Amino acid sequence: MPEQKKGGFFSDLFAPVGGFGVTFATMFRKLETEEYPEEKRPTQPRFHGRHQLNRHPDGLEKCVGCELCAWACPADAILVEGADNTDDARFSPGERYGRVYQINYLRCIFCGLCIEACPTRALTMTNFYELADNNRGDLIFTKEQLLAPLQEGMLTPPHPMVDGMEERDYYQGKVSKATPEQERWVSEHQAEPEDGLAWTGDPVEGVDTLAGGRQATRDTDKAVKR
Ligand code: SF4
Ligand code: SF4
Repeated sequence: MPEQKKGGFFSDLFAPVGGFGVTFATMFRKLETEEYPEEKRPTQPRFHGRHQLNRHPDGLEKCVGCELCAWACPADAILVEGADNTDDARFSPGERYGRVYQINYLRCIFCGLCIEACPTRALTMTNFYELADNNRGDLIFTKEQLLAPLQEGMLTPPHPMVDGMEERDYYQGKVSKATPEQERWVSEHQAEPEDGLAWTGDPVEGVDTLAGGRQATRDTDKAVKR
């Protein structure tokens, strides 16, 4: 059996207080405490946060309801149901649009595979990360919650495409804002009801789309549970 090496006089003397060295050194270091949530640190520019469904510059939706994002998702967190656009109710420039769109944030692992799969850049991720709640239903985000807010020059769909433009013109950046013809169409077809909330068409399983950037109260019981 190898003989244990004995310490010297001084090492034996200071051994009991040696362990406090780390404690004392830490006491004089600069504090790294984050005062979250009062002070929030900005994330990295390419941080993977909450998703957003983007719009074209005239307000039409970029999502064409192809479901590629849902197929790419390894956590099965996305539900998409596409539907046909019609002359009376056009939500996107193409043939189809995403009628139902849900992301289940109880499943999402923020890997970003869905945004890689999206052929129209309809789906991107924002820097928003405060996704917590006390019930399951409110963490299933619906299309109305995920849609980007209307910017200046945009109109709430449904409305026609810009006159003389095709779907490809939208992707080639030839549309910069809603035209007076589109504004006229919207004012004729999206009359404000008495309660001031204008339907924008096609109610979706317990979810109502409202004009003017307002969101309907979501009936989570009716949201599709997965
Ligand atoms: S970020 Fe990943 S896990 Fe979340 S919805 Fe997209 S593909 Fe699914
Ligand atoms: S978000 Fe993109 S990939 Fe998903 S359904 Fe819409 S267009 Fe297709």
